[in-house]
Amino acid sequence: MSSTTELFGSLVFNDVVMKERLPKDTFAKLQNTIKNGQRLEIDVAAVVANAMKDWAIEKGATHFTHWFQPMTGITAEKHDSFISPTKEGKVIMEFSGKELIQGEPDASSFPSGGLRSTFEARGYTAWDPTSYAFIKDGTLCIPTAFCSYGGEALDKKTPLLRSMEAINRQALRVLRLFGNEDVTSVRTTVGPEQEYFLIDKEVYEKRKDLIYTGRTLFGAKPPKGQELEDHYFGSIKPRVNAYMKDLDEALWKLGILAKTKHNEVAPAQHELAPIFTTTNIAADHNQLTMEMMQKVAKKHGMVCLLHEKPFEGINGSGKHNNWSISTNTGVNLLEPGDTPKENAQFLIFLCAIIKAVDEYQDLLRISVASAGNDHRLGANEAPPAIVSVFLGAELTGILESIENDTEYDAKKKEHLKIGVQVLPRFFRDTTDRNRTSPFAFTGNKFEFRMLGSSISISDANVVLNTAVAEELRQFADILCEADDFNSALNDLIKKTIKDHKRIIFNGNGYDDAWVAEAEKRGLLNLKTTPDCMPYMISPKNIELFTSHKVFSEAEIHSRYEISLENYVKILNIEALTMLEMAKRDILPAVSAFSKELSETASLKKAVSPKINCSYEEELLVRLSDAAASMFEKVKALDDALAATKDIGDALELAVYYKETVIGAMNGLRSAADELETMTAKNFWPYPSYGDILFSIK
Ligand code: ADP
Ligand code: MG
Repeated sequence: MSSTTELFGSLVFNDVVMKERLPKDTFAKLQNTIKNGQRLEIDVAAVVANAMKDWAIEKGATHFTHWFQPMTGITAEKHDSFISPTKEGKVIMEFSGKELIQGEPDASSFPSGGLRSTFEARGYTAWDPTSYAFIKDGTLCIPTAFCSYGGEALDKKTPLLRSMEAINRQALRVLRLFGNEDVTSVRTTVGPEQEYFLIDKEVYEKRKDLIYTGRTLFGAKPPKGQELEDHYFGSIKPRVNAYMKDLDEALWKLGILAKTKHNEVAPAQHELAPIFTTTNIAADHNQLTMEMMQKVAKKHGMVCLLHEKPFEGINGSGKHNNWSISTNTGVNLLEPGDTPKENAQFLIFLCAIIKAVDEYQDLLRISVASAGNDHRLGANEAPPAIVSVFLGAELTGILESIENDTEYDAKKKEHLKIGVQVLPRFFRDTTDRNRTSPFAFTGNKFEFRMLGSSISISDANVVLNTAVAEELRQFADILCEADDFNSALNDLIKKTIKDHKRIIFNGNGYDDAWVAEAEKRGLLNLKTTPDCMPYMISPKNIELFTSHKVFSEAEIHSRYEISLENYVKILNIEALTMLEMAKRDILPAVSAFSKELSETASLKKAVSPKINCSYEEELLVRLSDAAASMFEKVKALDDALAATKDIGDALELAVYYKETVIGAMNGLRSAADELETMTAKNFWPYPSYGDILFSIK
């Protein structure tokens, strides 16, 4: 196989393959399930399973797996072979409808946040027919949702699917009010841009911190970092180019629309963007993309780092979640239209989003919270931890004119009527891209930029879908009661702008002045994971999720527990890794170098007492002082960790790690980094930042 068109989707059981291989009526029934969520009967599933198996075997597969996304944030799979014994002592290859529809992996080893009682360790995986099955490493992978015996979601996919149903329901109600009768379903779409670092495998293997934690816990600043800005969109090195080509091919085979690739701001940093697709599929594809990025890197003797902050002082990695809402008739509801009706409809969806972001700032912040991402948000490289909306000058002007009942000065632009209001016809915003906004309107979609590079995009989209669904519900409730639709619409838009304009901010999000201004506006500034997590279980947020049937109250509490637990576990591993590196590698290396210096000085003095040994002697004094001070920091971190044993409450423990353990870690790091600058290179136990960041030639 050679051409890209032939390669694309060659490992995917997609519509084309289904049409080719399934009996006509089976295909029709399956399509009905995929498009309209109709239940698939077991006898139909049996036919699909058999066709899937035959297709997979032809492609060299011997096993199948239910592929799912537990709350670890990575994907899980348990492989079963297709073989089934015959009476004659041979085997045949079998795959039943039941095996396709449902699996029963042991759930006890996955995080459940207390949902799974110990006596019932069984979990269920249920086929998600809206995401195509695919072949990976000789295994037929069936995308599935994962839940407990009692039906509680234990994964990232189930709530995402529920949230898509929620926004579908409410968006349809609004569209009907605008007289849209032909639309039968509404879906959100996502195109996630993924950032990553590529470094040489040999260098990686010498760094315990990268191996255990995915980020460097020590490392003095290299002479050259990203200050020259010579990497961004720079020419791609041949080795990286070969990697990107292989990666594209691997992704294309899996039906993933990998489209754009380029170098990012930091040395060794790159980005991949796919063409957008339905959110649920985009989430699956993003998980697969991350997996493939790491796999293909190994083949090229490199390691792909997906951590949000692999290197101190160098830009970290994020994900830009480009999000929009589309109808099954192919209309992007965030595309300003040509007619007054279309524009009014656009404005109502826009208002729903503005209101949603304002009222659920806390949940949006929580949806991107992790120990890793805490390093980015708030540092001047990623959007700040304050959630705000960028609309651009033109759209903001339009909203202001509606709010104040003034005519929008659109210069020479044609005016159109929206509702009872005279408004300009508006076009894609021509204002400059604002790169500092956490939530930016970019013409026909919003770009949510706070996501960390390693996390699943599901959480963020669950919040976006559900929060917007809630605002659409409120709007539909108001509008369907109205006697005069147009004036009710106009009032609603006006009121929404008035009440929620505080969330709109078109300026520089990195500016300190914004922090003060945001505080004045009453916006939240939740800097860290322990700061934001308590908001997750507030009555307002529980009401949101339960009323739209996205989470039960028990599910919310379980996720709250898991997030806090995860935060603590990550920091604990990092702290222990630092201690091990400090005690067993760094301090002994400094001692060895000191010994060399003192021996050299003695040898020199033996030749003649008059020989100048100031280099060895002075350095020895400085090294010894610095090592002693580092040793104090080691003891301080040891003590900080020892005190965690007395804290039982999950939130209290997370706060303690944030306030005390992180401080002790930072202290130890500065002491060690200082020593790195004084210690001879051949004594230092680890490759330097320079060695790592410029390891790909
Ligand atoms: P940028 O200037 O930010 O690079 P692009 O037009 O290249 O903008 O799009 C960036 C990402 O947004 C791509 O992944 C693209 O597929 C995605 N995108 C474009 N339109 C939509 C949409 N309607 N819904 C969701 N994502 C979209
Ligand atoms: Mg972008």
